[in-house]
Amino acid sequence: MHCHYCDGKGSPQEMFEKANRLGFVSVGFSSHAPLPFDNDFCMHDDKLDAYIEEISALKGHAETQVYLGLELDFIPGVTTPSHKRWEGLPLDYKIGSVHTLEAPNDRHPMLSVDGPHDEFLVLLNEVHGGSARSMITKYYQRVTELCELGGFDILGHFDLIKNTTRLWGFSMSQRIGTKNLHLMPWMRLHNPV
Ligand SMILES: [Zn+2]
Repeated sequence: MHCHYCDGKGSPQEMFEKANRLGFVSVGFSSHAPLPFDNDFCMHDDKLDAYIEEISALKGHAETQVYLGLELDFIPGVTTPSHKRWEGLPLDYKIGSVHTLEAPNDRHPMLSVDGPHDEFLVLLNEVHGGSARSMITKYYQRVTELCELGGFDILGHFDLIKNTTRLWGFSMSQRIGTKNLHLMPWMRLHNPV
């Protein structure tokens, strides 16, 4: 679950209490870990200690078990789930995810694949020459690279790009693209979820 430490809604305490009321036997918190550039979805770096402390304090409940996690981005040359920054944190689990692709210039280092429409159009038109297939292939190549690198327990929403491409009217064949099928043998082999 995401909470108000990143782009979720509600405090960990509120979310825990609701889960408990609903009879959940366990819940996992997995806020977006900090990134070294401005963005609107991740936790700020100076909040990480408080996040760990607050989630850890919810542990030990007899009815609803709490797990402390983080959702860690893979951005080549910037951060990976296996980055030393995350070593030594008392995490119960790590989610590895791809949320962004390279932007065309220094204005923004990266843009979200499921972000606002204007960002999507910049990625599609300025980086990928208007080719949905090129952009989607790039996304799945990045997810495959993340799987090969490892360093996480759960692969996050490996088809995130469908959120946007479905919205903007691309067909299933455009969304998947035959070149992306190389991910499937990897998934059968490693059973990531
Ligand atoms: Zn995510």
